[in-house]
Amino acid sequence: RKAAYAALRDVAPETKDGHRVTVMVNAGLRDDVAALDVTGADGIGLFRTEFQFLVSATLPQRERQQRLYREVLDAAGPRPVIFRTVDIGGDKALPYLTSVDADEENPAMGWRALRLALERDGLMKAQARALLEAAAGRTLNVMFPMVSEAWEFDQARDLFEAQRAFLSGRGKRMPLEIRYGAMLEVPALAYQLDLLLPKVDFLSIGTNDLTQFLFAADRANPKLAERYDWLSPSILRFLKAVAEPARAAGVPLGVCGEMGGRPLEAMALIGLGIDRLSITPAAVGPIKAMIRSLDHDALVGFVGELLVHPPADMRGALAGWAAAHGV
Ligand code: PEP
Ligand code: MG
Repeated sequence: RKAAYAALRDVAPETKDGHRVTVMVNAGLRDDVAALDVTGADGIGLFRTEFQFLVSATLPQRERQQRLYREVLDAAGPRPVIFRTVDIGGDKALPYLTSVDADEENPAMGWRALRLALERDGLMKAQARALLEAAAGRTLNVMFPMVSEAWEFDQARDLFEAQRAFLSGRGKRMPLEIRYGAMLEVPALAYQLDLLLPKVDFLSIGTNDLTQFLFAADRANPKLAERYDWLSPSILRFLKAVAEPARAAGVPLGVCGEMGGRPLEAMALIGLGIDRLSITPAAVGPIKAMIRSLDHDALVGFVGELLVHPPADMRGALAGWAAAHGV
C-alpha cells in the first residue's frame, strides 16, 4: 500500500470526472518542507509559525524568524506557502513571555493567537517584518488564527500594511504581492461572512478548534472523543453554510484541520464543494487515492441530499456510498 501511495506522488489529485482538488500539507519546522517533495503536495496550506517560538528557550528575534521563513520559501520553490501568524498563549504559553498568563481557566478560549498578537503588537510587528522581508520579490501568503470578528482581520492586515509601507520607505525590497487570509475556527465568524468575504483573499477552516467550539467539547479531552465526530450533521451543515457564500464571493476556501486528512471526512468535504485541503503529510497518499476514485458530481449530489434529511448514522451512510461507488 505504501508503495502504491508513493506511486501517486507525481499524479494529480483529480477526480474521475476531471475535478482538480488542491492537496497541501501542514508544516511547522524547517525540515517539514521536505514533505513537499516526498508527497508531491501542491504546497504548504498551513505553516504553524509558533513552532519556532515553542521550541526556543528565548524569544526568536526577527532575524531568526526571517531566516526560517526564507529557508521555507526557498525549499518550497514555486509551490505556495501559507504562513499563519503565531498562535500562542493559552495552553501554548511561553516561559519568556511572562505577560501571558498560563493560569487561565479556559486557555483554548483565552488570550491567545490574534487576540494576544493585536495587543502585544510588538510581537506581531516583528513577525510581519520578518515575513515581508523573507518574501521579497515573491508572493507572501499570510493568514491570521482565531479571527472571531471581521474587524480583527482589518486590524491585522492594517498592521502588515503599515510595516510594508515602513520597510519600503526604507528602501527594502518587498513581496510582489501579499495575499491575506483568515482562519475560520471560531463559529461566531460565520455570522460575519458578509463583512469578511469582501476583504479576504482566502479563507481556511480550522476544524480542530472549530469542532471544539461548535460542540463545546475540549479537543484534548479523551472522554469527549466520541462526541467529536466530524461527520455530524451540525459540522457538515455549518461547513456548507460557509462554503456557499465563499463560493458566491469567489473566495478560495480550504480546510486545514485534521478532518481533511481522513478519507471519509475529506470525501464529505469535497461533497460540500470544499476542494482545498491542507493535511498531515502521511495522509496525502490515502487522500489522493480516494480523490482519484471519486465521481465528483455524483458525490456533490449525494452529500447535498444527505444534509436535507440526515440519517442517524451519517458515517455509515457516507461509507455505504463510498463502497457502492468504488471509493
Ligand atoms: C485548527 O484549529 O483546526 C488548526 C488547523 O489549527 P491548530 O490545530 O494549530 O489549532
Ligand atoms: Mg486552531
